[in-house]
Amino acid sequence: MDTVTAAAVVAASIAYVLTAWLAADFFSGVFHWLEDRYGVEDWPVIGPLVVSPNVMHHSQPTAFLEQGFLARNWTTILPAVVASVLAWLSGWDWLALALAFTGAGNEVHAWAHQKSSRPIRGLQLLGILQSQEQHAAHHRQPFDRNYCVMTDWLNPLLTWTGFWPAVEDTVEALTGIAPRPEREAA
Ligand SMILES: [Zn+2]
Ligand SMILES: [Zn+2]
Repeated sequence: MDTVTAAAVVAASIAYVLTAWLAADFFSGVFHWLEDRYGVEDWPVIGPLVVSPNVMHHSQPTAFLEQGFLARNWTTILPAVVASVLAWLSGWDWLALALAFTGAGNEVHAWAHQKSSRPIRGLQLLGILQSQEQHAAHHRQPFDRNYCVMTDWLNPLLTWTGFWPAVEDTVEALTGIAPRPEREAA
């Protein structure tokens, strides 16, 4: 393999992994937005396992740091692994990688709530991992942005384009289901 070909292979590999990481960031945003805007604590199974911890996180943002790794992450990791395996068995390797990355979403989110090690802080500075500053804006008024919790790269674009309000308007027009007012604003 000559140098040019080798460089092309490396560039393509980096793009493959980076786009999968960004897709995972977007998936984390979609699930987080669904929980925040439509989740109901009384729902069976999902209510106590997913919605209630999310409500808890918004009233006490650092409480989940007290939990162990598995207690904090299993409801993210388990569905991500199942979905990833299903995608891989279907031959969708890139999607399988993105879904596997999504399993790391809540731990990356936890790093944005605490003082982390130097390598993590370096990646947060680059935005490959979400910075504390960007995630802190999710926990402040007007509580309608920065649902993606894995990088610093998608949220500004989604806020600037009005993506989430547009999807909420579309959902309401099609189904009549309105998002609830943000809990913290209520
Ligand atoms: Zn939230
Ligand atoms: Zn948070």
